[in-house]
Amino acid sequence: MSLIDVHTHQLSTSQNILNREGFDGDETSIGYFSIGLHPWFLGENWREKWEKLEKLAENPNCLAIGEAGFDRIKGPDLVIQKSAFEFQCQVANSLKIPLILHCVKGHDLLLEYLKKTKNPPPIIWHGWNLKSHLAEELLDFPVSFSFGRHLLLPESNAVKWLMRCPEERIFLETDNSNLDIAEIYKSASLILRLPVEQLTQLTKENWNRISSRKIP
Ligand SMILES: [Zn+2]
Repeated sequence: MSLIDVHTHQLSTSQNILNREGFDGDETSIGYFSIGLHPWFLGENWREKWEKLEKLAENPNCLAIGEAGFDRIKGPDLVIQKSAFEFQCQVANSLKIPLILHCVKGHDLLLEYLKKTKNPPPIIWHGWNLKSHLAEELLDFPVSFSFGRHLLLPESNAVKWLMRCPEERIFLETDNSNLDIAEIYKSASLILRLPVEQLTQLTKENWNRISSRKIP
């Protein structure tokens, strides 16, 4: 059974979801992907950019929208970030697929969105490495957590939350690291005391529970 990598920037042979950065090229030549407007690259013209992405999002291999979200360190005015995020949530919702969240110093902005929105799409907070009480504040909402390279650091917030995170909300990823997804599964397996095969089954079931675009 291959290991699902829910968010990566590198092509590999596992069942990964490649984060598309370019919008050109032959979309049928790659496997699963996500597509979205990253907050770093948003401008006033983000809607025009989206029009180019729309077709790609209809491709059944497009398993998620994103990464999209909030960044208070790098990116345009929060007004722009919020409207682009909300728009992309609507797209994810209409396709019944998850949104992969990039969130830097924006936990409050996500919470604000979740509290005011009747039907948010499933959201996967990727690269989770914040304190556990912040994760707990999100459990009333359809938010899952994707863990990556921080799992290799024994005292990290990621490790601490993985130990307590409800298992139906767990995903694993390599993101932009050079790590092999197998290393992440191995670390998570040791932390959770769950064999890799069971963990593999778990992340697949977790995916298929929240998405209309299934991983076989
Ligand atoms: Zn990424």
